[in-house]
Amino acid sequence: MYFSQVAGQEEIKASLNKSIINNTVSHCYIFEGPKGMGKYQLALVFAQSLLCSNFDIEPCNVCNSCIKVNSFNHPDLHIINEDEKNIKREEIDYLIDSVYKKPYESKRKIYIIKEAHLMTVQAANAFLKTLEEPPLDTVIILLTTNSNLLIPTIVSRSQEIKFRNVSKETIMSYLKKYSDDNLFIELAANYSQGMLNKGVNIIEGKDQILQKREEIIKLFDRIINSSPEIIYELESYFEEEKDNIDLIIEIIMIWIRDIIYVINNLEDLVINKDFLQLLKIHGKSMKKNSDIIEFMEKISENIRSNVNYKLTVDNMLLKIQEAFK
Ligand SMILES: [Zn+2]
Repeated sequence: MYFSQVAGQEEIKASLNKSIINNTVSHCYIFEGPKGMGKYQLALVFAQSLLCSNFDIEPCNVCNSCIKVNSFNHPDLHIINEDEKNIKREEIDYLIDSVYKKPYESKRKIYIIKEAHLMTVQAANAFLKTLEEPPLDTVIILLTTNSNLLIPTIVSRSQEIKFRNVSKETIMSYLKKYSDDNLFIELAANYSQGMLNKGVNIIEGKDQILQKREEIIKLFDRIINSSPEIIYELESYFEEEKDNIDLIIEIIMIWIRDIIYVINNLEDLVINKDFLQLLKIHGKSMKKNSDIIEFMEKISENIRSNVNYKLTVDNMLLKIQEAFK
């Protein structure tokens, strides 16, 4: 693996790189950021660089150590919580036990702990002890979606690195490797929410968000062209889609914003460019001065704070009907 294979996160890559060259590597890092930002990938490249015997800006990928890391076979690279479930006390005991032993064949031992906030309290307390007096030849990298869920003492004894969303432009230029359909690339970048891996998955069809989008756009069209009885007809649909409701609301909000862009002749800003005709039709039937966007934000909040699900969905459908006549 190479640093250059991890897209975006240039500042983070540069600072990790510099720390190896200047010999200022910390003993514990926290990589924090949403899923799909390349935290694990970057942790692996960093580990490989630290273990490589010929490191020079990039790991060499030919030394014995690099070959072992690339095949997940290096005895000094330990990955904890591979399946991203709960981290038990025994796993941390294993870590503590091996931390104070010498590395098998490299100068260092590297530990990558996935979803580190899933440590049980006992595990976290035991882990804290290793951070009090960390062995010099050890580097621990904690990966987490939210460092607020870690014990504060762990955070204060670590170097925290925050992974930020990648810009739409960076994602678009990266996705050109996968497709030459510019409209499709832009659509994937827009729906990737700043997560490069998500963008790639959309392009490769592993993420079904664009298919879901078409389903929801058709549904939206049906809702605004039907009598209020449709709310009862859709009851079972929304009950089945309960786990997807955040996504559905987001797709609807993007759609409504697009309609507003079209009404205001701001077609450049439209995300669903492949549905421009339908957006124009919906734009003609949208009531002026509607507060539907604010209302949808409220709906989204209510869903998150577990307000009665059926009632919230019914209110949303009613409001959509009211806003388009
Ligand atoms: Zn190497």
